[in-house]
Amino acid sequence: MRTLLTETELQKGVSKMAAKIEETYSGRQLTIVGILTGSIVLLADLIRLIDIPMRVGVIEASSYRGATTERGELTINSELLIDIADRDVLLVDDIFDTGHTITRVIEKMRELGPNSIHSAVLLHKKERQEVDYTPDYSAFHIPNEFVVGYGLDYEDMYRNLPFLGVLEEADLEKHASLA
Ligand code: 5GP
Ligand code: MG
Repeated sequence: MRTLLTETELQKGVSKMAAKIEETYSGRQLTIVGILTGSIVLLADLIRLIDIPMRVGVIEASSYRGATTERGELTINSELLIDIADRDVLLVDDIFDTGHTITRVIEKMRELGPNSIHSAVLLHKKERQEVDYTPDYSAFHIPNEFVVGYGLDYEDMYRNLPFLGVLEEADLEKHASLA
């Protein structure tokens, strides 16, 4: 698998983003909400780098891709979410691709009456953006390639890779033989 970002590069980018967030929210109480499942690695790193009092919660978003449809229907499950009423919320996700997931999750969370909602993502694929919204923090801009690792999956695998890799034809064949 081809490496797009090494473990060291990822650490640097995430630390830089954490420093910016810390500066913005210092003196306030923060509620960080990770979107399951892709955000888990970023969430774990980010919350330990931001040195301010915070609550941590999660919300689930999943899209089921049909065989013929390009984008599946998005389901948002807020049953696991902690109370965000009157809170300053920072929503965390692995990647901003078309932007539909984050904007839909924000819409849903606004119904719960937070004081503010901002967003932080590890990766932003700028070429693919389809919505009129840009994440407040993004650690890296990447080209339009399918990446895995550091929380991002292909058929629920590879989330545990400490680096960010690009899945190529040979990797897909290998994956198929493992599945
Ligand atoms: P969006 O709604 O912004 O188009 O897509 C966001 C979701 O699509 C991400 O949370 C992620 O699950 C998935 N996604 C988009 N691009 C990639 C990619 O390059 N690799 C992986 N593993 N997932 C991606
Ligand atoms: Mg995801």
